[in-house]
Order: sequence, then structure tokens, then C-alpha cells
Amino acid sequence: MSESLTFSQLDLPDAILRAVTELGYETPSPIQAAAIPKLLAGEDLLGQAQTGTGKTAAFALPLLARLDPAQNEPQILVLAPTRELAIQVAEAFQAYARFMPAFHVLPLYGGQSYTNQLKSLKRGSQVIVGTPGRILDHLDRGTLQLDKLRAIVLDEADEMLRMGFIDDVQTIMDATPAGRQVAMFSATMPSQIRAIAQKHLKNAQEIKIESKTSTVERITQRYVMLDSNQKLDALTRVLEGEEYDASIIFVRTKSATEEISEKLGARGYAVACLNGDMNQANREQTIRRLKAGQIDIIVATDVAARGLDVERISLVINYDIPYDSEAYVHRIGRTGRAGRLGKAILFVSPRERRLLRTIEHATRQPIEKMSLPTGEVIEQRRIESFREQLANTIEAKNLSFFQDLINDWREKLETTDADLAAALLFLAQKDQPLNVAKQFPEIREPHARGDRPDRPERGDRPRFERGDRPERGDRPERGPRPRREMQGNYNTYRIEVGKEHGVRAGDIVGAIANEANIDSQFIGNIKLFDHFSTVELPADIPTEIFQHLKKVYVRKQKLNISVDTGGHGGGDRAERPAGDRRPSSAPAGAGPRPGAAPKRRTRE
Ligand code: AMP
Repeated sequence: MSESLTFSQLDLPDAILRAVTELGYETPSPIQAAAIPKLLAGEDLLGQAQTGTGKTAAFALPLLARLDPAQNEPQILVLAPTRELAIQVAEAFQAYARFMPAFHVLPLYGGQSYTNQLKSLKRGSQVIVGTPGRILDHLDRGTLQLDKLRAIVLDEADEMLRMGFIDDVQTIMDATPAGRQVAMFSATMPSQIRAIAQKHLKNAQEIKIESKTSTVERITQRYVMLDSNQKLDALTRVLEGEEYDASIIFVRTKSATEEISEKLGARGYAVACLNGDMNQANREQTIRRLKAGQIDIIVATDVAARGLDVERISLVINYDIPYDSEAYVHRIGRTGRAGRLGKAILFVSPRERRLLRTIEHATRQPIEKMSLPTGEVIEQRRIESFREQLANTIEAKNLSFFQDLINDWREKLETTDADLAAALLFLAQKDQPLNVAKQFPEIREPHARGDRPDRPERGDRPRFERGDRPERGDRPERGPRPRREMQGNYNTYRIEVGKEHGVRAGDIVGAIANEANIDSQFIGNIKLFDHFSTVELPADIPTEIFQHLKKVYVRKQKLNISVDTGGHGGGDRAERPAGDRRPSSAPAGAGPRPGAAPKRRTRE
């Protein structure tokens, strides 16, 4: 964490500062503290940062500050590997520029209708955020002009490389004016990314947030994988299912401290918030109440909880992932005080998985995956806790007045002790019902792609997704087409673009991934022939997506995708596809049977 720096010390224009304050941001994240001054000074930048570190604001805020609002032509272009990221980055720009008059940002990604995109382009936007394929299309068609461009950002550059977009990225870079500023962000720095940086960045400042190794003892650490919209539900379950004395919940913004403490308060928890807006007296009073047991839960930002030392805290919940391992260690150090044992739970969205691994690495301790308490567990806990209260009451209280009443009622109501007890229990549990197993449906672990906090509804076509896929952060980073074992039913499809059109496997992956919104994990072997190619895709692609893929162009060829019959007639019959390692006696292009899972992917 940046110890003392505030946003107002960063020389950002008032309109942007106001937006940041209204969003509830208290202090710049480490990557922001490092990147903002450099980008504000007009320097090129190479940043190693993962999702969850605040990298979007790290480039969006300073570039917006350098924008000329009077000019309604593209001045900033952000290239992002997926439509989800493009939408999210565009939303972030919109949020940060909300007090900048006449500001327009436009996301441009594959799968969206050209008609709408052209209309929006004609209206004019200062910021364009797009996937490389679609941006290149618009450049080719002459519908996007970049001559007024002041800055270009390559976001998740390693992902763009992995998805086969890097040639497109190079072409786009070459089409931008010579004097523009370049900012490149990448979670990893493979050699190809460094090469691009060397070619296109001038005296680039390189920033990387070092994760200091520090160990934490006596604290059990676990994480839950979930989507942002599942967090509140997950939080209430954790608070019900876990044993703790007092708990501190960490969030990123002041507004979140207030919102969550209000919601927990409404559910009957003794809770208060702790944020940078509170004066010292209020802050101290809250801490005193926590120590005295008048409240059990505190919802805090990092800065507000700095140095907090309360022995009662036995559970730390990282509701929002911390920006780096240092912040994480600081947070979980709020428990396990005075030699006691503590527990820490971290909420992670699939996109933040890489940051989770970084934290694990830096703390040299595994953070174990946990599943959320089920309805049955919560029901059991409520029953046990009630029984405990009953036992204590029977032991400690003088109940003679109530015993007399019971004797009286048993006679008057002509009923049994068991019926009376059951009816009383029914009335007593009304505020916190005991019979709740079914009221807590299972919270399913989300897929890796597309988890963004403020994501709007999906675009115009349904998305294709499958369960049990490997997560983004675990993907091998060897090259654009890593070999991997595929699971599930796959078919081989034929697409009408081949080697003679200059196509490469990466182009096909990129086009299919973005146009059909099929995650590249589900794109199997690709074989390139002279006039066409084959590609293995899940057998259960929805017809709608399949129809759309027919119309997609790659290297100026319409894919016209069809199920591969294996015959490969005409001139291609005797061809051996690039990368096919079968013995020459094997029938060329036979491919796996429909329905069989392909075992390996061809690498370029
Ligand atoms: P990113 O790493 O850019 O995907 O950002 C992750 C999340 O952190 C987003 O929801 C941002 O709104 C939030 N965020 C970024 N910077 C800050 C900050 N300085 N204070 C609080 N929240 C932030």
C-alpha cells in the first residue's frame, strides 16, 4: 500500500478527482501511485500488473487528464483481448470522466453489429476501447480514423499474444501517429511482449509492484471463488457458518464500507464501518465498541484499519481482494493477535485468480480453497446455537414463573408438554428461522471469463460457456497455441480460410473466441490446409452462434463454417495439414470422430 499518497497529490484535474472521490476511492493503489505521475508527464510506460491491482484507473485517469475535451475525435485507443474487458474498461472511462463535459467513450468488439458501431463512430468519441480484430476491421474500412490519436494502451498484452492477436496489434500500432504516447500493461512479460515494447515504446518507464515475501503464522487462510454479484450472499453465509468472536471485513471503497455495514445491520448483525471519512474521535469510539463487544463486525478500508489491534478479531474477510501481497499481509495480521489463532477468508473472482497466486507466492503459504456453508450447515449451526441458549437458560435462570404458566396452559389448552414446547419454539425462532436448509441454494463457482464488478447485461447474442474449465491464471504461457487435453464432446469443423490466405491458428482462435464468444480454452486442434482449415469445437455449440460464425471473416475470407465430413475433397485431399504429426499412412485430414474429445492442440 502507498503509505501516505492521496489522489489529490497526484495533479489530476478537479473533474477527475471529483469522480474518484464519488466512487469512494480513498487512496491510489500501488500501481496507480507508480503509473499516474509517469503517464501524466507524457512518458511511455510498461507496467506489469494483474487484474485486481487497479490497473485500469492507473492508465485511464492520467490519459483522461491529458485529453482535449473540445476535440471529438479518437484521442485514446485501448486495445483489450476480450469483449468483456473492452466493455469494462469503457465503463471505467465513463465513470472516471463523468464530470468531464461532452465526453464520449465507445467500446468496439467483435460480435456487435457494424451498423450500430458505425452510427456511434459517426457521432464521435474521444476514447475507443476495442478488441484488435474489430479495430483493424474499422481501420481497413476507413470507418475509424486515428490521426488525432494521443495515446494507445495495450491492456492485458500477454492475453492478446496468447489469443493470436499480436499481428493485429502490431498493424494497429503502425497505423497510429508517431508522436502518440504508449502504455502497455501485461500480467506476465514473455519475450514477445518485451520485443513489442522495445519496438514501440520510447524510453519506456517500466513499473512492477514487487511483492515482498512475508510470512504469516497462526492464521488459517482460505479463499472462495465467486462472481462479484455473489459476494454479499457469500458474506452472510460465511458469517453464519464460521465460528468467530469478532470479525473485520475489508473492502476497497468508503461507499462499500457503508453499504455493506448497512446491509449486515439490516440482517441483525452488530456492525459498524471504519473508513477514511471518519474523524479520529468516531474511529476511536468504533474501536472501543468493538473491544467491548458492543459490535462484533467492522467493515473497513485498508487505510482506516491500519494498525488496528483488537484481540477479539478472530476472522478477517477480504471481501474485495487487496491490491498486493503487502496489503494482504497487513489485513490478515488484524487477526491472530496476542498469540491467538485467527482465520482469514478471501473472496476472489475468476479474473483475479492470478493475483491470488501472487499473494500465495509472496506469503509462502497456501491459501486453501473453501466451499461456502450450505443451507444444511447453516440450519445445523442455528439449531445448535439455539440449543446452547436453551441449556444456558435452563441452568442459569429462575424459571418458576414460566413453569407455572406452562402448567396452567397445558391444562387450559388440553395439550402435551411436547406440543407446547414445539409451539413456543416456533414463535421464538421467527426472527432467525431454524428450518432454513432449503432457503440457501447452492452458490455455484463461476466460469473464468467475464467477471467484472460493474458489467452490464450481455450483448446481443448468448454466450457459450461450459463448466469445469481451467482458470485463466493457470493457463500455460508458452505460446499462442498451448497444447492441452480437452474434455467433453468435440466436433471437427471446416472453415473456408487456409494457408494460401495467410491465416494462422492464432487468427482463427481470436476470431472464434471473440465473434462467437467461445473461450479459447474450448477451441481444440486447428489444422491449416491450403484452401481451408479444420478446427475442433465443442459439439454443442448453439445453432445461433454457429450461424453467426458462418458469416465471420478471417483474412478477408468468410468462414462459412460447416461440420467437417473428413473427406476433404478436391485439391486438398492429399494435403498434410501444418503441424499434423501422424504417420504419413494416416488418412490426411481425417480428424477425430465427431463426439470424440481431441487430445492435443496443434501449435503454430
Ligand atoms: P482493475 O485491477 O483495474 O480491474 O480494478 C479492480 C477494481 O478496483 C475495480 O472495481 C476498481 O473500481 C477498483 N479500484 C481501482 N482503483 C481503486 C482505488 N484506488 N480505490 C478503490 N478501488 C479501486
